[in-house]
Amino acid sequence: MSNQCKFWDCFENISPVHTFCGDHFEWVETGEIDECPICKRGKFSKYDLCTDCDNKSAEVVNSSQTKLATIHLLAAVDDLILMTKPDASNWPVGKRKQLNHLEKMANEVRNELRSS
Ligand SMILES: [Zn+2]
Ligand SMILES: [Zn+2]
Repeated sequence: MSNQCKFWDCFENISPVHTFCGDHFEWVETGEIDECPICKRGKFSKYDLCTDCDNKSAEVVNSSQTKLATIHLLAAVDDLILMTKPDASNWPVGKRKQLNHLEKMANEVRNELRSS
């Protein structure tokens, strides 16, 4: 069984024990490649999504269904933040930063929903 590089537009055949081809693995190591939050394939970290998902999301981003789904997701994130925040004062700085980042992202999405 052959295996393909996990990077979104790479079709390099690799050994089944590897996740990325040699070239892309080097970029994963240097932090230039991380995971696309939608399709879970590799993408360049400077972009939010891989180009594939970015193109697709641009087509659906204004549909009312997407808006409803986003509102539900936002409510779940709010619950999560509310639930974890009291404990966060004991967390290491890195973890607290991630929670703050999540809160910031949720607020940004909220503002976008409000203005659309
Ligand atoms: Zn590759
Ligand atoms: Zn993607």
